[in-house]
Parts: sequence; C-alpha cells; structure tokens
Amino acid sequence: SRLTRQPDLASFQQSPAQVALEVHKLVMVGEGGVGKMALMTQFTYGRFAREVERSIDDSFLRRLVVDDVPVIVQIHKTDVNEGGLLQDREARLGEGFLLVYSITQRSTLNRIHTHHEHILRIKGPGGAGIIIVGNKCDLEAEREVSLKEGRDLAKELGCAFMETSARDRISVGEAFVDVVRQIRRLKNEVPS
Ligand code: GDP
Repeated sequence: SRLTRQPDLASFQQSPAQVALEVHKLVMVGEGGVGKMALMTQFTYGRFAREVERSIDDSFLRRLVVDDVPVIVQIHKTDVNEGGLLQDREARLGEGFLLVYSITQRSTLNRIHTHHEHILRIKGPGGAGIIIVGNKCDLEAEREVSLKEGRDLAKELGCAFMETSARDRISVGEAFVDVVRQIRRLKNEVPS
C-alpha cells in the first residue's frame, strides 16, 4: 500500500484554528526490521501496513492532544544496523527517542544500551525523553525476549518501557504519548 506524501510542517501547522502549536521532534531508533516504520504508520495513519513504500522516508507528522493540550509530533526514523551507531546529527535533532527492539529477535535488544548511552552523551542527562519499546508483542510464539528482561533493562537505564504491537495496535499511541509527557516535564523543570 502506498502512503500519500505528507504536507510539510509549515502547512501542517497553519490550520485556521491553531497558531504556533507546540511541536516536538521524535526519533525512532533501532535495528532494521524491528517495526519502526510500522509503529509510525500505525500511530500516524491508524493502520498496519505490511509493506510500506521504502522510498518514503521523510518524517511523519501527527497532531494530537495530550493532557488537553494539542501538540504536533514530527517523527523521524533511523536504522542502526550491524553495530552501527546513531548519528550525532539525529541524536541532536531529537527531543524524544523511542528505542525499539523486537521481542522476537534477541540481537535487536543488545544495542539498546549503547544507543541510550550515546543519546545521554549528546543530549546530557535529562536532555531528552526516552522510552524503550519492545515491539511485535503479538508474536508470542516467536518470543525471544521476556517482558521482564525488557523491563529490567529499562529500569537499569532509568527509562520508560512498553511492549507494543504495531500490527494489533497495542500500546502504540501510549508509547508516543509517554514521550511527549516526558518532554514537557523536562522543559518545565527548572535546572538545579
Ligand atoms: P523497520 O525497519 O524497523 O522500520 O521495520 P518495519 O516497520 O519495516 O517492519 C519490519 C517487518 O516487521 C514488516 O514486515 C512489518 O510488517 C513487521 N512488523 C512490524 N511491526 C510488527 C508487529 O507489531 N507485529 C508483527 N507481527 N509484525 C510487525
């Protein structure tokens, strides 16, 4: 299935009813195939696309309301394969990060720690909202990473955590909303 091209941020923002809406940039980080695009598609379009046009790799935009306050999230994705690192440019760009692995592939969990460290180094502690996301939780029969392992990693790194299914729309919106709340909290904090 083909996705239509998204309007750019400026035209998206200038709806008559809304002026100067809060905008947050989110970055999906994880190995290829863990379901980053599927999560973005589910969140933005409300459907699961088994095969997304790979050429459409621009950011996705969605307007939503979190705690009664409207916000636009601009979602980017980045594949970090074969021991690759998140690019500094992408790390700087993001205000919120979804570190995604697949519960069906243990190897995709292994580098979450490294990505987290890298983000902290670039953004500083408390410089970004971060959630670890264990995707494909609908594939219980193929599970290689337990819920507890995901939770324990998140606890160790001091991050939020959720298991999601882009296919069955489990906790997809919740994961994005959690990051928006974190960003707002961080922005409202007075540095000590
Ligand atoms: P990306 O490379 O991280 O962007 O991964 P994609 O979004 O392209 O997903 C890779 C493959 O996994 C595709 O065939 C998706 O249909 C499939 N997939 C993604 N999320 C889920 C999920 O939650 N459940 C299941 N069963 N399949 C998924």
